[in-house]
Amino acid sequence: MLFPKDFLSQGEALNSLLRKIHEGRMTHALLISGEEGLGKWSLAQALAAALLCEDDSPLARPCGKCRACIQMESLLHPDLIVIRKGAPLVPSDVKTSIPVSDIQEMIRRVGLKGYEGTRRVVLVRHAEDMNDSAQNKMLKTLEEPPEETYFLMTCVNADKLLPTIVSRCQLFKMHAWKTDEIVSQLERKGYEHAKAEDAALESGGSPGRALQIAGDEAYWAFRDEILRDFFGCTERSRISEISSRWKDRKDQADALFSALNLYISRMMHASLLESGEAMPLEKLPDPWKSWLSRSAPGDYVRLLDAVSLARKRLMANVNFQIVVEQLIFALLEALDS
Ligand SMILES: [Zn+2]
Repeated sequence: MLFPKDFLSQGEALNSLLRKIHEGRMTHALLISGEEGLGKWSLAQALAAALLCEDDSPLARPCGKCRACIQMESLLHPDLIVIRKGAPLVPSDVKTSIPVSDIQEMIRRVGLKGYEGTRRVVLVRHAEDMNDSAQNKMLKTLEEPPEETYFLMTCVNADKLLPTIVSRCQLFKMHAWKTDEIVSQLERKGYEHAKAEDAALESGGSPGRALQIAGDEAYWAFRDEILRDFFGCTERSRISEISSRWKDRKDQADALFSALNLYISRMMHASLLESGEAMPLEKLPDPWKSWLSRSAPGDYVRLLDAVSLARKRLMANVNFQIVVEQLIFALLEALDS
């Protein structure tokens, strides 16, 4: 299991949150927000374990060893209620959101006497998955929280939550992790250093994303192809040869455009940050280094426009091979100008 201390690089706010838990002053509702893959759900679980741990010394919680901590590892603590899309607490036909019946059932359960202690923890994963009626019901609960019940919620996009829910919660925003922190996390999971570093650089500061791609050979093969074909092409005479390799791969268009957007944004970032702390330039793949040497920060806006135009053309049913040709041409053009 992960411990709250594994997240200390997320900043002083976490320390003060832990102090509150240890001193028994924890706010009744916490909303952990941030991009996908930063570890919001793991942090929520670690804090839930700190709240439910039975160790005699508050400062040692979560101990990772007591019965409560062990039950927390599989999210099976009797005083824990886990709410998430696709795992309804009571049978429901709603599959694409968290239904109001989950919130009603949670309220019923927290109204019962606690099993192990007096304290209850409610974990809500991706709180924005609650549909409108679920959010309204949750709001009422947060307005009059049951005693000794702690709500730990995560969300990617707080704008999709009722502002009144957000204002009832203490907010904790997770930020991108440093590359070397992600590298050591992957190494602890058994990845060799070079692979861990590649995945960390590619992940945009997200340990979850890094872990997901580190062992995914298909991901790296696709990336290498994109590097070779879209960033490695320097001559117009090669465009038709490249586009013919892509012509029957329209089903990968979305993945291709998203990857190009990501890579171009990252290079733009690297070109702006000369020291490149988040993105050491010497560690970029060769085609990107060569791009960076040829381009100015302003070029990247044109490159992103070219990708978005390609998307629009494809949506307007332009043949995919032609879309690819026009895109590579536009990428070369943007760099030449
Ligand atoms: Zn414990």
